Amino acid sequence: MELWFTEEHSENVKFSIKVDEHLYSEQSKYQRIDIMKSYEFGNFLTLDGCMMVTERDEFIYHDMMVHVPMAVNPAIKKVLVIGGGDGGTVRELTRYKSIEYIDLVEIDEKVVVACKMHLQQTACKLDDPRVHIYFEDGLRFVRGKENEYDLILVDSTDPFGPGEGLFTKEFYGNCYKALNEKGILINQHESPYYQMHKNSLEMAYEKMVGIFPIMKFYGANIPTYSSGQWLFGFVSKKFHPVKDLQEEAWKAFGLKTKYYNTIIHRGSFALPNYILDLLS
Ligand code: SAM
Repeated sequence: MELWFTEEHSENVKFSIKVDEHLYSEQSKYQRIDIMKSYEFGNFLTLDGCMMVTERDEFIYHDMMVHVPMAVNPAIKKVLVIGGGDGGTVRELTRYKSIEYIDLVEIDEKVVVACKMHLQQTACKLDDPRVHIYFEDGLRFVRGKENEYDLILVDSTDPFGPGEGLFTKEFYGNCYKALNEKGILINQHESPYYQMHKNSLEMAYEKMVGIFPIMKFYGANIPTYSSGQWLFGFVSKKFHPVKDLQEEAWKAFGLKTKYYNTIIHRGSFALPNYILDLLS
């Protein structure tokens, strides 16, 4: 008997992955958590039936979430990660010896438990001494912060369910306050292709626009995400993501990356017209 994981990318399009073994399944207070072992993508995490992270293609997302801001401001020392319970974003951050402090605010402790059990590839650095984990709502956590972080990475689920509050003007306004004068915020900004994700993208855009002086978008192709075309939002109080790219300083870190390099950094901010039209 064949087992398949299927995610609906639109009402007429489904994406399926053949499953070898269902490793973990739990209904937490916030969401349904599943980890499965697949033939093509290794172990993968889904939340409420939505694809979150796979062993095979997570490097693309986590490289672009972390190395893009780090190459614009290599002096980043204090980082806030909201969501990110699989640990992949934190893992990439801990590769920078220059980073002194990482607050991880993940609403659902069960996600961290599950990923430590079955996704060690991403969860392997959650015990780094610089990492401080708070199991609470990122929307509430950031309310109390002022001028505290160099970088905020919003590595959340889609804007419904527990993630909904992380796509609001209140949240981005509080993130603005929580960042210092050189602050940068990156969020996963959904997909511009199918209507369902397009709506999420437009909603996130409307909530972010006007809060930060600099607001740019960049893309990457992530095979297991809806349509493959995925966007990230780059907002900042001071730095332009391409004009202020510190290419030599980033190379001096000597990090070996599987996806990111400073040429793709520049190229990722060049977007096709249909996306530019959507964002305008
Ligand atoms: N890379 C994935 C993506 O782009 O869809 C996201 C990875 S991570 C698993 C998403 C995490 O966000 C989940 O563990 C979820 O529990 C967490 N999350 C959702 N809403 C949250 C909130 N309001 N505060 C903190 N964490 C939240």
